[in-house]
Amino acid sequence: MLEKITRPADVRRWPGDFPVRHRYTPGVAGEVFFTALRDRGILLGSRCEEDDYTYVPARLFCERCFAELAADVEVGPGGTLVSFTIGFVGVDGEPLDVPVTLGLVQLDGADAVLLHHLLEVDDRPLEIGERVEVVLRPAGERTGSILDIEGFRLTS
Ligand SMILES: [Zn+2]
Repeated sequence: MLEKITRPADVRRWPGDFPVRHRYTPGVAGEVFFTALRDRGILLGSRCEEDDYTYVPARLFCERCFAELAADVEVGPGGTLVSFTIGFVGVDGEPLDVPVTLGLVQLDGADAVLLHHLLEVDDRPLEIGERVEVVLRPAGERTGSILDIEGFRLTS
């Protein structure tokens, strides 16, 4: 018998775990991006002249015209806040002691946006269009991960 579930809260759940593991690799362009982030503290994007569009992080190909791209543009560290959200609940539904603020930022020189933590927000009201800058972990502590970026700090 098939039941049509119209309310997500009505879905039956069986607690348990699946023994599945995966490893996600950054790919050719992602490797260049993360190496530059770790070793040089810079953010690399990829420019498609055909589409007049700069991706960040760097891409191996253009998602619009499929042209081969390179990690050929340094973007940021300044940027503009395009959107934001404040999370009061963790990914497993647990209430958070301290809310998490995430910002969607268009880095200077990029068309694509990057999602990361907004730092030192406290209770300050946020506005779309505010200026931010990337905050990196200290050089000796970077490992070549997106967490080498601590987040964005408001500068305006
Ligand atoms: Zn293109």
